[in-house]
Amino acid sequence: MKKMMLINPHPPGRHGEESISVIVQMPLNLGYIAALTPGDDWEFDVIDENIEPAMDDGGNITFDPPDVVAITALTYQAPRAYKIAQAAKKLGSTTIMGGIHASVSPEEALQYVDTVVTGEVETVWPQVIKDFENGKLQRRYDAGLPNLSVLKKVYPDRELLKRRYGYKFSSIITTKGCPNRCDFCSVPTFQGQKFRERPYEDVLDEMAATDYKGLMFAEDNFYGHSDASARRAKNLFRGMIERDLKKDWLGFTALNISQDAEALDLMAKSGNFGFLVGIESTNEEVLKKMGKRVNLRLGTTNYKDCIRKIHDAGLIVWASVVFGADGDGKDSFKKMVDFVHDCKVDILTYGLDCPFPKTPLFYRLDSEKRLFRRNMPEDWEYYETAHVVHRFVDMTLDDFVNGMQYVYDNVYAGDNIRMRFRSTIKETGNPRNSMFALRVSQDWDQVFTQVLDNLHKLQESGDYYKDTYATQEKTISIPA
Ligand code: SF4
Repeated sequence: MKKMMLINPHPPGRHGEESISVIVQMPLNLGYIAALTPGDDWEFDVIDENIEPAMDDGGNITFDPPDVVAITALTYQAPRAYKIAQAAKKLGSTTIMGGIHASVSPEEALQYVDTVVTGEVETVWPQVIKDFENGKLQRRYDAGLPNLSVLKKVYPDRELLKRRYGYKFSSIITTKGCPNRCDFCSVPTFQGQKFRERPYEDVLDEMAATDYKGLMFAEDNFYGHSDASARRAKNLFRGMIERDLKKDWLGFTALNISQDAEALDLMAKSGNFGFLVGIESTNEEVLKKMGKRVNLRLGTTNYKDCIRKIHDAGLIVWASVVFGADGDGKDSFKKMVDFVHDCKVDILTYGLDCPFPKTPLFYRLDSEKRLFRRNMPEDWEYYETAHVVHRFVDMTLDDFVNGMQYVYDNVYAGDNIRMRFRSTIKETGNPRNSMFALRVSQDWDQVFTQVLDNLHKLQESGDYYKDTYATQEKTISIPA
């Protein structure tokens, strides 16, 4: 039997979305790797470093070296992934890396692992394994962005992941890609600007095949931007009801869904808690700079009405916003707090404006010489929305830190979370969904505290003021 270790790396001590216990998800892509591996002569194990380390403080792997170590990594996970891969390689394992960061910079990744898979692995993984078995493993495979109907043939091995860690929530792929081009977002870059929709019957069949009741709809927009997409989404919700596939589910989408009362009604009936929606900013000038067209079309003055419609369907609104974008000044923080209270937002979470590599924001800030975290690959660890990595133009670092503290004090600290819970019950009339929102806010409290801690450390370190362009600190080469 050949052995494969599947690893989801994680920098020790970080808290992010992965700390939200009600939706702690299994690393589904590792479940796909197990399911896509051909033949019966492979034995799999998995380490999710959100739960236990794959490497000890001395830099040694914590597991017996297998034939293959397969690692997936977002950008912030890449430095840790490289270290684990090198430690495993030293002991004779073959190391293969995929995920967004390997696609961002395959040349960088190839310095640390044997093989890199770029793009979405589904179509190419069986070939990777065949080549490995025949001693002909290539250095690089490009999987491209396949039509999502390929997922009909194979479901991720959720049982393998569940046996190991007992995850309460899983996720399911329903769509990928986005036709928009918000400057900070990596979705169009890595999933393409074509909105790819999985046939809804395939999604229903996969839902029927899993015991998981708690499901997150991956990826970033389960509803879409056209009438045809809306019809497909509603067929999916309708199918869940008709096939009695009621799940406790959550997803991401844009605020345009608020205009579709039928969709909201079907979502509520199919077990939806509500959804995470990219509000990003209450300032239209900031939205223009970001290129967030969908919000501009609706207009920020209509946010309140959109949110009311979602509440009327009994669903919660999880507003995701960005702090620190160009155009955000000292007054932005109070405006955001006022928006949360005035519109009765149920959950507020955020990312600090982050120039993920290969996004338009990354290239712009780099050309303006405003990135102060450029010691790569180590500094990739900061590219995860809980750290500041660039200098602001419309405020000082102290303004920013004080502003974030103001948001914490007025949205999270003291009795704020409880008060919001009472407001959610009143607005939605739905105790189950309100309880869900309460638990997310309680978990995000811990994430927020860590972000404030990160900001204070940055103030003390002086790194924010380092001119890494003048000192020629290790430059980044990310071809567009
Ligand atoms: S933020 Fe949303 S709308 Fe904008 S590009 Fe990303 S996925 Fe598309």
